Amino acid sequence: MNVDIIEPGSPGYDAAGRTVLVAGNPACVLRPTSLDEVRESVAFAAASGLDLAVRGGGHAFAGFGTNDGGVVIDLSRLNAVELLDKDRHLVRVGGGATWGQVAAALAPHGLAISSGDTRSVGVGGLTLSGGIGWKVRKYGLALDSLVAADVVTADGQLVRASEQDDAELFWALRGGGGNFGIVTAFEFAAHPTTDVHFGKIAFPAAQLATVLAGWAGHLRAAPEELTSIALFANPFAGGHRAPVEIHLSFDGDDPRAAAAAIDPIRALGTVIDDDVALKPYADTLVDGLTPPPGIRLVTRSAFAEPASVTDAVRVMAEAGAAPGSPFFAVRSVGGAVSRVPAGATAYAHRTAELMIQTTIAGPQPVIEAATPGLLAAWDKLAPHVTGAYANFLATATEQDVAAIYPGPTYRRLAEVKRGYDPANLFAANHNIAPG
Ligand SMILES: Cc1cc2nc3c(=O)[nH]c(=O)nc-3n(C[C@H](O)[C@H](O)[C@H](O)COP(=O)(O)OP(=O)(O)OC[C@H]3O[C@@H](n4cnc5c(N)ncnc54)[C@H](O)[C@@H]3O)c2cc1C
Repeated sequence: MNVDIIEPGSPGYDAAGRTVLVAGNPACVLRPTSLDEVRESVAFAAASGLDLAVRGGGHAFAGFGTNDGGVVIDLSRLNAVELLDKDRHLVRVGGGATWGQVAAALAPHGLAISSGDTRSVGVGGLTLSGGIGWKVRKYGLALDSLVAADVVTADGQLVRASEQDDAELFWALRGGGGNFGIVTAFEFAAHPTTDVHFGKIAFPAAQLATVLAGWAGHLRAAPEELTSIALFANPFAGGHRAPVEIHLSFDGDDPRAAAAAIDPIRALGTVIDDDVALKPYADTLVDGLTPPPGIRLVTRSAFAEPASVTDAVRVMAEAGAAPGSPFFAVRSVGGAVSRVPAGATAYAHRTAELMIQTTIAGPQPVIEAATPGLLAAWDKLAPHVTGAYANFLATATEQDVAAIYPGPTYRRLAEVKRGYDPANLFAANHNIAPG
């Protein structure tokens, strides 16, 4: 085989075996550098009979990008970003590129792609399951900007998926995760971008209930240029006594339009910090952290539909004010995400107004101590939320898969899976069973 292979005992094995969040002890890590090498790697993995993990940026909370005793195909060397067509803003991105690489490559052209908030996160995992970032209300999910994908399927064939070629696979790729093969290249329609108004506005913890309710109400009617995340009960800033932080991006450089959209948030309470400023979009992305060995991140998510937002917000504010609350990050969605018809892609949660994420983090004893608070918060939230966002889930149970994919979506995905991966070679994901 021509592909670079790292085995136990090879230099760099420990680093190659782990993902950003999870340690692993694979039998080998393959690092293809070309389409042919991806095909060779897939053939090798299929013939080996071992478990296969495909790694893009290696950020899956469930640790999909590594395993113990199996084969890992690490796509990080397929990271080219190429502007194919300046007029149509058509961009081709390698299957192992990160969003930081994409943002840096597109910035000189005044372009960007709606993606996520962190540089080191992979284009592959984020796009294939959604992609909720700072341009989500204006331009939709990352997968909404996808126009084509080159996929190496389980039998080693190269398939091009788009609305014109293999439309059913293209539908499945936009939400169905890594179930259908290795995407060696993504083609996106990028968006022109200006500098953006970006930063955080913080309020005292005691104002959580009014700030959160006012924030959710404002976002419902705010211009789609405004995208925001409400963060509270941050364990590193005092837990239930931590300030409520409203992080936001106004996707435009007009100061008056930005102020009109942002000032109502400032008026929600006593502002104790405000660092909103005009900056290049690429500078809004943050560097991801690699937690030290032994630290686990348990992340869980769900959506609030418009009719449930008031109740969900009330319950979150109660939970966030109580000792032992998990760390909440609540993202505004809606806008351009909701304008795409429900069945147009395999991402099923189009009508949601909020995406709710909780995290508990630490060594195992801390996780165990924090779990009752986590479960209590979700028990109270359960009547007011639906579904789950695959990209913010640390587990991959049958319940998780059912929450990500409602019945009709799952059944349609299973048909596509049967056609492209009947033996379920690509199983390290929120898995769609082929039959
Ligand atoms: C610090 C941090 C910040 C985050 N911020 C955001 C955010 O702002 N918005 C958001 O929506 N999500 C965010 N996420 C979640 C992120 O979208 C998921 O963790 C996603 O799975 C990461 O993709 P990856 O390629 O880095 O991960 P990986 O673990 O490498 O891959 C995840 C899954 O995708 C598959 N996959 C990856 N690349 C390919 C490919 N080219 N072809 C086929 N399958 C592939 C893998 O096999 C695996 O099943 C964040 C996560 C972290 C840890």
